[in-house]
Amino acid sequence: MLERGEVANSWRRERWGSLRLLTPNWQSRLPGVRYEGGDPDGYMNMAEVTEFIELFAKVSRAPVRAGVNVTSVRAAGDGYLVTTSDGEIACRAVVIASGACNRPSVPPLSAAVPGGVEQLTPFGYRGPGQLPDGGVLVVGASATGVQLAAEISRSGRPVTLSVGEHVRLPRTYRGRDVLWWMDASGVWDQRYDEVDDLTRARRLPSPQLVGTPERATLDLNALTALGVELVGRLAMVRDGSALLSGGLRNVFSLADLKMNRLLDTFDEWALTSGRNAEFAAPERFAPTVAPESARLQLDLRSGEIRTVVWATGFRPEYGWLDVPVIDGKGRLRHDGGVVTDSPGLYALGLPVLRRRKSTFIHGIEDDARDVVGHLAGYLG
Ligand SMILES: Cc1cc2nc3c(=O)[nH]c(=O)nc-3n(C[C@H](O)[C@H](O)[C@H](O)COP(=O)(O)OP(=O)(O)OC[C@H]3O[C@@H](n4cnc5c(N)ncnc54)[C@H](O)[C@@H]3O)c2cc1C
Repeated sequence: MLERGEVANSWRRERWGSLRLLTPNWQSRLPGVRYEGGDPDGYMNMAEVTEFIELFAKVSRAPVRAGVNVTSVRAAGDGYLVTTSDGEIACRAVVIASGACNRPSVPPLSAAVPGGVEQLTPFGYRGPGQLPDGGVLVVGASATGVQLAAEISRSGRPVTLSVGEHVRLPRTYRGRDVLWWMDASGVWDQRYDEVDDLTRARRLPSPQLVGTPERATLDLNALTALGVELVGRLAMVRDGSALLSGGLRNVFSLADLKMNRLLDTFDEWALTSGRNAEFAAPERFAPTVAPESARLQLDLRSGEIRTVVWATGFRPEYGWLDVPVIDGKGRLRHDGGVVTDSPGLYALGLPVLRRRKSTFIHGIEDDARDVVGHLAGYLG
């Protein structure tokens, strides 16, 4: 097991200061290790996540070789030759577990942002104190974007949030964490070969959730209440101006509709499982309120916006993989973690790899069991 940094490297080096998991403590479970503290409904900060994963490395006695960077993996004989910063390894099989979020995904239009405006990604962002005074445009309204917009707004800087397709969720529903419902109702366990549109499911943005002691909902209405200005999707930067899509109302109704459908699924499960009486009454939430007239253009040269924060997602990095199994969009071609075009090559930790819960910490156990089962058969 080769790790270029330290155990839990991504949690140590690639996250901002105030981040907490959006999954509750009781849901942080790995084979043989689960959260056992006094706050099961709380959310771990980065130091706690790091400690949790270090504990797992110890308990599982994982043969980690830290500080070893893989610079190339290529087919050789009936297996692979792995070149590392610490020599070469010949092996029959390789499991790619290098993460789904190695780089922030920044759209090419960022190149047209005028030079006087500072640009940051979540990898460079540590906290609002590092930003110049003045307005901030946060692009992207999924988990990262809504969390950063709220934090920066609370620091006193005017925040404009550019919103595209997003997944709205309340933090709690009928008295339980919304992710408890995902778990209990079986939504998380839905298998990749049962999902209607797998390509779409794998590209679905993260839900608008934040882990706070108050278990507060952080949807767009909450951001509007904080004073954040909502604008449409950033379509283009031309002559120093950011051009924004109209049709916010449609984007909002779609997200509201999908949230309500999911809540219907939870209610149905509560009834069919015979557990309905355990929970508070079904709830429905106020529709997302669109601004009277959302701005369609922002002059990035006027000095109103001093910083752009790109919360436009993350992508994996496979520059070291010298096997032709990456598609035109930079994604690994695989079937439930089995890289069928290159026998002996496997993957873990990618979105909806084998189940809807695959990208989450608690999703790895079932996926790993399946993928390792296949791998053992292959070696056998
Ligand atoms: C901002 C953010 C918030 C998240 N919040 C949550 C959450 O609340 N709850 C949750 O369950 N999940 C959350 N996730 C998802 C989380 O990343 C996964 O659950 C989990 O970290 C995936 O673990 P992993 O080991 O597959 O990938 P990673 O944690 O990315 O680990 C991959 C490791 O591979 C190493 N590596 C990469 N390339 C090489 C190479 N060439 N040579 C050697 N080593 C290499 C990296 O250094 C890294 O340590 C979040 C993700 C992000 C980006």
